[in-house]
Amino acid sequence: ETTTEAELIGKHEVLPIYKPRDKFSHKGQFGHSLIIGGSYGKIGAVILASRAALASGAGLVTVYVPKCGYIPLQASFPEAMVITDEDEKKITNISFEIEPTVIGLGVGIGTDTKTMKAIEGFLKTNKTLLVIDADGINILAKRKTLLKLLPEQAILTPHPKELERLIGKWTDDFDKLEKVKAFSKKHNLIVVVKGANSITVFQEKLYINSTGNPGLATGGSGDVLTGIITGLMSQGYNPLSASVFGVYLHGKSADIAVEDFGYQSLIASHVIEYLGEAYKDLF
Ligand code: AMP
Ligand code: MG
Repeated sequence: ETTTEAELIGKHEVLPIYKPRDKFSHKGQFGHSLIIGGSYGKIGAVILASRAALASGAGLVTVYVPKCGYIPLQASFPEAMVITDEDEKKITNISFEIEPTVIGLGVGIGTDTKTMKAIEGFLKTNKTLLVIDADGINILAKRKTLLKLLPEQAILTPHPKELERLIGKWTDDFDKLEKVKAFSKKHNLIVVVKGANSITVFQEKLYINSTGNPGLATGGSGDVLTGIITGLMSQGYNPLSASVFGVYLHGKSADIAVEDFGYQSLIASHVIEYLGEAYKDLF
């Protein structure tokens, strides 16, 4: 029996995690992020996540999308490389020749039966570090046997509804965190419980984030978080550090951006644009 430790995460706590860049850095040191997701009408989620991965500092970003994502991605995000599924509207078979450092899976991916099969096939052979969000989580919740296929310390970033699908209903916040801790232990996963004060859970440990504001209650802000965490792991932050630091940076960026845009008008893209300001605060 171990006791729970909870730590409040602010600037003082993330400074020792933060790795500044030196003069002689080259992109090979910052890894290659692969974002897999998207379906017809939800390519924007992949654009947000992949831009956020690059803006958080990944060396290279590739995206894997259905064919309908090819033009929007190439046109709106020239820094990214694009690989497409053979299907026009959804992901039906995940196969690629590149060797990414880390994979962010699930934003905008949908829950088509063929997509679920593709994810199952992918998880059976994948050994790469993983961040799973959105419908990626919903698919794990529908097929719990897939949880056994996840690599060690894979990161899940559920919002409250996704969390409920994954672990079932809870009675109060205490019960919720007990259930998440048990789930994290059982499957050796990191769970980012998103909300007003997002909590990163790893086994018995809780990391309570102090940044962020209600301006983040807007479509796409979760996709940006997925991209940030993926981009951090790409640069060599370990899964727990990437989760805690990523949640902090996401909230800090929103806190700076809200001064210019206000709560109502802050949109997910602003959180990506202001990531640099969030980093500068650590200089
Ligand atoms: P999603 O629901 O997947 O788009 O994720 C929403 C993101 O915005 C998560 O990172 C939440 O923690 C964050 N968020 C949503 N509402 C708030 C709030 N009221 N205060 C702070 N962060 C929030
Ligand atoms: Mg989401």
